[in-house]
Amino acid sequence: MREKLVAGNWKMNGGLAQNKALLEAVVAGMAGVQGMGCAVCVPYPYLFQAQSSLKDSAIAWGAQNLSQHDKGAFTGEVSAAMLLDFGCKYVLVGHSERRAIYGEDDATVALKFEAAQKAGLTPILCVGESLEERESGVTEAVVARQLDAVTGKFGVAALSKAVVAYEPVWAIGTGKTASPEQAQAVHAFIRGKIATQSKAVADGLVIQYGGSVKGSNAAELFGMPDIDGGLIGGASLDAQEFLAICHAAK
Ligand code: PEP
Repeated sequence: MREKLVAGNWKMNGGLAQNKALLEAVVAGMAGVQGMGCAVCVPYPYLFQAQSSLKDSAIAWGAQNLSQHDKGAFTGEVSAAMLLDFGCKYVLVGHSERRAIYGEDDATVALKFEAAQKAGLTPILCVGESLEERESGVTEAVVARQLDAVTGKFGVAALSKAVVAYEPVWAIGTGKTASPEQAQAVHAFIRGKIATQSKAVADGLVIQYGGSVKGSNAAELFGMPDIDGGLIGGASLDAQEFLAICHAAK
């Protein structure tokens, strides 16, 4: 049985005082909750704060990006080893904002995925189509291409120690959520595609949904057979909303 995973993506939000209140509320609200995983992916400068606040809880933490390089003259970059120094378990790879705003292509995303995994981090590989792509009927082709960039290079076994987040770009930060049926269809496609290469990897793969998940729609989405929790942007900044989403995944 797959355990659901709800991960917050704070994006470039937060501050020491605000984070303290948020982390304390999440720790208190998750105390004693079992049977699901919970994590927060915070901006780099707050990894130490996340580590200090969460180390005695069941909540994991991680980053939102990493360099594909190990070390060296890469000004402004952060390596997988540095994330491990701060106790990270997860790192987002290929978030649509990284792809669209910072020009990360499939090949770069695959190298970042590899760097994370080689260091022992669990990459959360984000995939998903734009509105234009959905409307032109190429959703599956886009998602397949994004997955193939990783499995084609490293083999399907690479997904046995990773999480996939299906995030339709048109649903991120827009308030437009994919319907549970729309999301389930793509999740089933992803799992089915992986199953053609390895049924065991497909059965064990946690596939999160991301895109305007809130406390009010989480249970319905997480009730679908191939949706194993969520990657949560805006709503992860509000403790009560984030906790409601986490509790919907129990
Ligand atoms: C995200 O950034 O990964 C995301 C899903 O954002 P939101 O929940 O705000 O749509």
